[in-house]
Parts: sequence; C-alpha cells; structure tokens
Amino acid sequence: MSARLLTSVIAGRAVPGVEERPNINPSDVSDVLAETSAADAAMAQWAIDAAREALPVWSQTTPWERSVVLDRAGSEVMARADELGDLLAREEGKTLPEARGEVIRAGQILKYFAGAVLQPHGLALDSVRPGIEITVTREPVGVVSVITPWNFPIAIPAWKIAPALAFGNTVVFKPAELVPASAWELVDILNRAGLPPGALNLVLGRGSVVGPVLTTGVDAITFTGSVSTGRGILQATVDSGAKVQLELGGKNPLVVTDDADLSVAVECAMQGGFGSTGQRCTASSILVATAGIHDAFVEAMQARMSAWTVGDARSAGVDMGPVVDPSQLAQDEDYLAVAREQGAQVVGGHRVESAAAGHFLAPALAIGTAITDRINVEEVFGPVMSVVRVDSYDEALAAANASTMNLSAGICTTDLAEAAHFRRHSKAGMVMVNLPTAGVDFHVPFGGRGESSHGPREQGTAAVEFFTTSKTSYTHPGQP
Ligand code: NAD
Repeated sequence: MSARLLTSVIAGRAVPGVEERPNINPSDVSDVLAETSAADAAMAQWAIDAAREALPVWSQTTPWERSVVLDRAGSEVMARADELGDLLAREEGKTLPEARGEVIRAGQILKYFAGAVLQPHGLALDSVRPGIEITVTREPVGVVSVITPWNFPIAIPAWKIAPALAFGNTVVFKPAELVPASAWELVDILNRAGLPPGALNLVLGRGSVVGPVLTTGVDAITFTGSVSTGRGILQATVDSGAKVQLELGGKNPLVVTDDADLSVAVECAMQGGFGSTGQRCTASSILVATAGIHDAFVEAMQARMSAWTVGDARSAGVDMGPVVDPSQLAQDEDYLAVAREQGAQVVGGHRVESAAAGHFLAPALAIGTAITDRINVEEVFGPVMSVVRVDSYDEALAAANASTMNLSAGICTTDLAEAAHFRRHSKAGMVMVNLPTAGVDFHVPFGGRGESSHGPREQGTAAVEFFTTSKTSYTHPGQP
C-alpha cells in the first residue's frame, strides 16, 4: 500500500508541492507514515496572500464566533486523543502516554483560548484632562507566521495558532519537516471547525526554502526552535519591522541539596531529563548536587536508569522511545564523546539495538563534570544529563545560573528558606521546587530569559500581548 500524501493547505485547498519526502517512524525505519509534498517559496507567498485576503473576514468576526470554532476544534482533538496520540508517537517517537497527553494538552489549549477571547482585554478610564474619556482596545496584529519545532508536534502549534486565531489574526503555519502529519491533522480539524478559507494555511516545506518568505512578508512571527535559527529570524525582522516572538533553546539545571528527599530528587531528574527522550526545551540537563547527597544521588540515579525501558514508542511498558532521527542521535553521541574527553565518566548512553533499526539510545549520565565543560554549556537535546558536584547551596545556585539559556531551573530541597531563596535568585524564566524542570501549565506565562526567549511571553493570560496590538483612543464630547 502506498503511503498517504500530505500536502500544504492554502485558502482551504490541498496544494501539492514540488518535492516529495518520506515521513519515517523513528522507532521503525521501515514504517513510512506518509510522503510529504514539500512547498517552494512561491507557495509560501501564496499562503501569505491567502491569509492577507482572509484577514478582513476573520478579524471582523465576533469573539463568540471565534470562540465557537476553537471550542469545536478542541472537542474534536480531545475526542480523538487515542488516534492522534498514536500518530504522534509514530511520527515523533515519544511514548504513547506522553503523546496522548500532548494531544489532550492541545485540546485544552484550544478550549482555554475559546474562553479567553470572551474575557475583557481592554480598559476604559478618565483622562487626566477634564471631560475626556480614554479607551485602550486590543486589535489583531494581522497575518502571523507560526513556525514550530519537531519535539511537540501538536501542542506547540496549538499554543501559537489558538491565540492567534482567538484574537482575530490570520495564520500561515510552517511545522518542522519531521512532523508534518500531526500538523496536518490540527489544521484539518480547525478548518473543518468553521474557519473561513485562508484564515489558517499550512505550508509544508524546508525551513531554508520557505522560511525566508515566511519571515519577511508578514506582520508578526511566532517561532519556537533553536537559538541559531531564531537569531536569523530576528535579524530578518530588523528590516521588515515585523513583531517577533522567539522561544529558543534551554540549558536547564536541577539543583539537589543535602536536604532533598532522595526519592523525590531521583524522580524529578528521571522525568525531567529522560521524559520525551530528553527532547524538551525544558529538559533537565545539568544535575547540580551538593557534597552531602552527591554520592547517594548518583548511585540512586544509576539504579533507576538501569530499570528504565527503552523501546518502540508505541509498545506497552516502554519508559522512553527513540531519538527523533539519525542526526539528533549523532549529536547526542558526539556530546557524550566530548564529555568523556573532558574527563567525565559516562554511564549508559549506548545504542539499544532493535530489529526495526530504530534510533534508540540508552539514557546517559555524565558524572564528574565541571560547570564549564562543553556538555554543561551547549544544548544536547537528547536523553543525556550530567552531574556537577558542589560544596554548598551558594555554589549550586551559582552553577545553576551559569547558563545563558535560562528557560527552566529546579531545586529539590525540604529546606523552605533554600527553596524561597532559589525561587527569588534563579535567572530562569520558570522555576520548579521539588518538581521536574519540564512540565508546565497552559494557563500561565511560558518562556525563558537570556538567549532562551525574545519578545512577549507565550500562553495563558500573557498571549494577548503578542497576538494583539493596543490602541489608545481619546474622546471629548465635542462641547465645552
Ligand atoms: P530548528 O531551529 O532547526 O527548526 C525550527 C523550525 O524552524 C522548523 O520548522 C524549521 O523548518 C524552521 N526553519 C529552519 N530554518 C529556517 C529559516 N531560515 N527561516 C525560518 N524557519 C526556519 O529547531 P528544531 O530542531 O526543530 O527544534 C529543536 C530546538 O527547538 C531546540 O533548540 C529546542 O530547545 C527548541 N525548542 C524550544 C522551545 C521553547 O519553548 N523554548 C520548545 C521546544 C523546542
């Protein structure tokens, strides 16, 4: 049976592209989910034009009409959680429970913004000058490019597309090349939920080909991906003047102090570091342990890692699925080699063979590293953590703050004063106490500091800031 063909969707119509590329299951490389018909630059421009044409229609719908569409889409996403979760696990390689959870999250986000659009977002107040009234209203920004990475194939698109549409913008959506099928399903659901043609367009294509068009001809760009791609986009907006929001890499520390509950610390590290194969921007990547707990913690981690099951993402009882593709696998292994060269002892991190030739890597822990080692400075983006031993909480805090990609940081401690101090003095955009560094809510702001983010925060109440532009109006009754 030939694989399904996935095409771009422009103005509500399926539009074939110019080259085909297989969509391969990372757990089983003989399993081709689909062929992607990739767009060229002209199609990206066509999608922008379609979004521009749909803007007067969609931006003038009532909040209730927009709410109904988002709510309907959210209901369908949730009702199909098993099927879409299976597709996501097959396409990206996270385990079925993780994939199903991500689909549910996407549904929750759609429903959250269905409600959020009905909330008050403006202001009415008296002027400091007599007799004048002031209103501050929120209006759509215009045509928004949504560019997303492969590691959350449905949740990240949902948390950008839902607020964009909720606040009356139209969208051109370009998902990562590795995950077109999940993206296609989300767009199909939203279009069938009642969007007018062109309000949401899907461009399946290489970033290097369609990216330059999608980052120049629009009013706003919301991007999640690597620091280097994000930097290029920021540069492009200097000339175009488009509004830009970037969520980029993370180098996330988890501090474990002498006062930590050992089993809580181990679970936080395992879930935060190896959940979703460590391929999360919020993944714990540096474990900073104080001297009194370091040895016991490292020993307990090794015991837990040896019972961690790696295998086909869709098999029951698997703790961790494959790495997403061969190039990411090579990157993970390169970092482990560098860590060894710099003197670390690496536990795990070997390839796990399978009949289906999936890209499986055992979870890895690099022990005995210094905070300045390369493995502790650059983002690995795989099931790889390293341990740094420090003498005191103060040293731990300094190590945790050494990163330049300050997305999420955690501390495991039962000392309330230490926890409060860490919350206050961490440089990260999100701080976790006795919780994994990964795992966030959808109704509160999300984002990092330093090189990790640029522009207004995403999600929850923060989203209105990026996806609208404010207007301040002054009205005088016209009589003295
Ligand atoms: P990437 O930067 O390679 O690609 C991201 C997207 O950008 C893809 O859709 C890609 O096709 C597109 N792209 C590539 N070149 C482009 C160009 N010149 N112009 C416009 N778009 C272009 O990232 P990735 O490998 O897909 O994802 C992994 C990265 O994403 C990691 O660094 C991770 O930390 C980051 N990430 C960050 C967050 C966050 O919220 N901070 C969340 C998830 C992932």
